[in-house]
Amino acid sequence: MDNKFPGKDISDEDLKTKFPLVAKKNKNHKSKFKISGVEFGGKTIPIFAGPNMVESKKLIFNVAENIKKNNCHFLRGGAFKPLTFPYRSKSYNETRERGIEWLGEVKIKYKIPIITEVMEEKFIPLVSEVADILQIGSRNMQNYPFLSQCAKTQKPIMLKRHYGSSLRDWLGAAEYILKEGNKKVILCERGVVAPHTHRITSRFLLDLQVVPAAKEMTHLPIIVDPSHATFWRPWVKPMALSAIAAGADGIMIEVHPNPKKALVDPLQPIDFKELKKLMPLMNKVAKVTWNKKLY
Ligand code: PEP
Ligand code: MN
Repeated sequence: MDNKFPGKDISDEDLKTKFPLVAKKNKNHKSKFKISGVEFGGKTIPIFAGPNMVESKKLIFNVAENIKKNNCHFLRGGAFKPLTFPYRSKSYNETRERGIEWLGEVKIKYKIPIITEVMEEKFIPLVSEVADILQIGSRNMQNYPFLSQCAKTQKPIMLKRHYGSSLRDWLGAAEYILKEGNKKVILCERGVVAPHTHRITSRFLLDLQVVPAAKEMTHLPIIVDPSHATFWRPWVKPMALSAIAAGADGIMIEVHPNPKKALVDPLQPIDFKELKKLMPLMNKVAKVTWNKKLY
C-alpha cells in the first residue's frame, strides 16, 4: 500500500509496512532481555559509564575500578572514534586496536561488561571479541549495509540516534538490525540539532520527548546519553535525572578522573565524586517515578 502521508511523522501504515519488527504488537508489548547478566527493559535501569575515548591503559583501568565501585553496569569508551575533524595532534589520536586490547583486559580484571563503538566493517570481528554491546554511533545511524553487517554478528547493538533524524528515520534504521534476526537492540537518544540554549558550546538539544514518543511506537528499550547531548558538565546531572523521570530504560554517562584533561570533549565528562553523588539520586528518581531501581 502506498504511504499517503510520507514525512516525518509515523503513520499507522508505517508501523505495519515500514518497521513491522520494531513496532509494538500491542499496547503492552515491551522487549525484555539480558546482556551479560544485566536486564534491559525490566525493573532495573542499567548505567553505562566511562571516558569518551580509551585514552590509555591506565585511564581505562582507573575508570573501570571506580565505576564498578559505584554500581555502574557497563564500561563505555571508544577506541575507534568518529572525530568531527580529521586533523589530530598526537595526544588526540584514537588508540584503535590497542584500545580494544585494553578493554579486553579491563573487562576480565574488573568483571564489567563493555560497550564500545565500531565504525568500519573490517573491524567488526575485532570489536565483537571484547564488546558485550556494539555501539553504532550517530554518524553511522543510516549506514544501512553497515547496520546489517553488525546485526549479523548477533551481538547486542546500541543504535545512537543521528542528531538530524526523526523518530521515523531512527526506527527505520533499527528495523535493518532486527531484520537480520538480531533481537537485542537498544536505542540511544544523544541530542539533536535544533535552535538551542544560550551556550555557544551547546551543540545539541536533548530530545527527552522522544523517550515517551518512542515507547508509544516500539517495544525496544531506549536509553539517554546526557553527556553528548549537553556537551556541558553542569547540565549532565539535571538531564540524567530528567531522562530517568521521562522513562529512559538506561543512561550513558561520560566519566573521567580528571575531566578537564580529557583528550576528547573535556567539557562534558563528570568526575568520580560527581558520579558517586549522582548514582543514588538517579536511583531515587527511578524509584519514585517508575518504581524501578539502578541497583
Ligand atoms: C560516543 O558515544 O562516543 C559518541 C561518539 O557518540 P555520538 O555518536 O552520539 O556522537
Ligand atoms: Mn564524543
